Parts: sequence; structure tokens; C-alpha cells
Amino acid sequence: MDEFALIDRFFKGQGVSRKDVLLGIGDDAAVVRPADGRDLVITTDVLVNGVHFPESTEPAAVGHKALAVNLSDIAAMGATPAWATMGLTLAETNEQWLEAFCTGFFALAEAFDVQLVGGDVTRGPLTIGVQLIGIVGEAGCLTRSGAREGDEIYVSGTLGDAGLGLQVDSGMLTVAERDEAVFLDRLNRPLPRVELGRALAGHATAAIDVSDGLVADLGHLCESSGVGAEVDVARVPISDSCRRYLAKVGWEPVLGFGDDYELCFTAAPDQASHIEGLSHELGLGIVRIGRIETGTIRWVHGDQPFSPHAQGYRHFR
Ligand code: ADP
Ligand code: MG
Repeated sequence: MDEFALIDRFFKGQGVSRKDVLLGIGDDAAVVRPADGRDLVITTDVLVNGVHFPESTEPAAVGHKALAVNLSDIAAMGATPAWATMGLTLAETNEQWLEAFCTGFFALAEAFDVQLVGGDVTRGPLTIGVQLIGIVGEAGCLTRSGAREGDEIYVSGTLGDAGLGLQVDSGMLTVAERDEAVFLDRLNRPLPRVELGRALAGHATAAIDVSDGLVADLGHLCESSGVGAEVDVARVPISDSCRRYLAKVGWEPVLGFGDDYELCFTAAPDQASHIEGLSHELGLGIVRIGRIETGTIRWVHGDQPFSPHAQGYRHFR
């Protein structure tokens, strides 16, 4: 199967057809028409086999994750995802693998009304680069740079399950079967918080998605905003499964690993009841973990000082 047959069979005409796509897959480039005056947000994330997902990862999960990580960036900007392109580098054209990969990718694309409008297919080590474009709503977008002294710091969902998933996958950690399922599911099929991000636009002062670990990502947010913080690690939300292994593994996989794809955001204290309402509406936990201050980030555990020792993942360390 050459690349043209592959594109026709696996990508062309798949998934949703949006009204604002004037020209999708098949020409030299795609043409889309955003509503008059709408701002667009544009993001790209590349997944490399063995770096961003274990080589053993099922192809459907690879397809899911390739889009999910980009959806998470659009969520952190408070925008609505719309159009995607894909740069796909394959070692071989394994039809069964591609079939499953597309199942994972297009199921998530459909769930968020994202149309794949173009891409490229090349031969080489398995790598998936997805570009995603989102539309900014009337309330404007969220950035990392708007946090101000006195704002509360929140985290959605739970952190650490994906980090434990990687430890389980690599044989570093053995856990009960039901916990293993929780951890591997979070690692392989992250659920981007798109609805939350969109609802936070106009209410939160700053936001970031937790992809490199809370220590690193909250650090980015505070640096961009020119502020410090006090954060209580005892308030960081973790799942019951994660809590069972915390004594054994410590806080590193919770605070330092990432791949959680939750949102960390800041909001003025008068937004507290609105945020509580959002949490109920979305059926998603949202927990206050600290407060923005001037200066640096100080971690505490209850009333004790705490040192998180976590730097986040860096490719060129
Ligand atoms: P070109 O020769 O201009 O680079 P290609 O032959 O690479 O074009 O691609 C043909 C068409 O298929 C283009 O519309 C391109 O956007 C689309 N396409 C190629 N690869 C993918 C992919 N992985 N996913 C979606 N569309 C793709
Ligand atoms: Mg091409």
C-alpha cells in the first residue's frame, strides 16, 4: 500500500464533517472559514514511540493520546477545538495497526467535534505529530500569565495515576489488578478537560495543563505571571488507587511526572462558588491547593515545609 492508498483508506472522509471546512483532505492544503472576527489558537504536540508512550502501547491508545495531548493544550487556553492536521511517520504500513490507531484517534475527534483536515505520511521511526486549531469564545482565552497575588490555585481531577501507570508498565511497581487498570487507563487514555477550560474563560486568571508534572507546570504559570505561591501538597488531589501506594512511591510520580492532562488554574477568591458550581455541573473534582503570593513558590505539607524534589520531564536535560 503506497501513501496515497493509505491516506484514502484510513484518513480521507473519516470522522466528523464540519460546516466550516471548505476543503479537507485531498488538495495541497486545507481551507477553513472561522466565524467573522473569531480568534484562533494553534498548538502542536509530537509523540515519539518509546519517549511519549511505551512501545507496548496499544495502537488505539496511541491514536487517542496523539489527539488528547493537543486537546489538553486547547483546553488550557479555554478555547473550543475545531480542526486538526497530522504528521505521521511510520516504520511500516501495518494495516491492522493503522485500523486500530484510527479507531482511537477518530473516536476522540468525534467526541470533541474535531475534523482531521490534512497531514502528511512519511517513513521512519514511529512518530505522530498532531496540530490542532481551536476557536476562542466571546469570553476570550486563558493564558499562563494572568495570575495575581491573592488568587486561589486549583487543580482538576486527580494527579499521579499516569505516573504510576508508567511505573507499572515498566515493571518498577507491582500493584493490585484493579489499581493497575486505573493507572494504565490514565496513562494511555487521558481525558482532556476541554469543557472545563472553555467554562473557565472569563473566570480564571491563568491556566496551564499538567503535562510535565505539577511542580514544573505550576512553576511555568508562576514564572509567566511573575508571581510566587504557597502550595499545600496535602491538598493535591489523588485517586484512592494512588493513595494506596503513596507511602511506597512517594510524591515524585504525583508531582514530578506529568501526563495527567488535568488543568491547574488560578482565580480570584470571589470566583470560589462559581468554580464549585462548575465542578458539580461537570462531575469533575476541582480542588484548591494553595494561593498566589509574591516571591517564589513555597511548598508545605499542612503546617510543615515540604520539598518536592521534582523537576518535571525534560527532553534535553
Ligand atoms: P503533498 O504531496 O502536497 O504533500 P500529500 O500527498 O502528502 O500532499 O497528501 C495528500 C493529501 O492527503 C493532502 O490533502 C494531505 O493534507 C492529506 N494527508 C496526508 N497525510 C495525512 C494524514 N496523516 N492525515 C490526514 N490527511 C493527510
Ligand atoms: Mg505531503
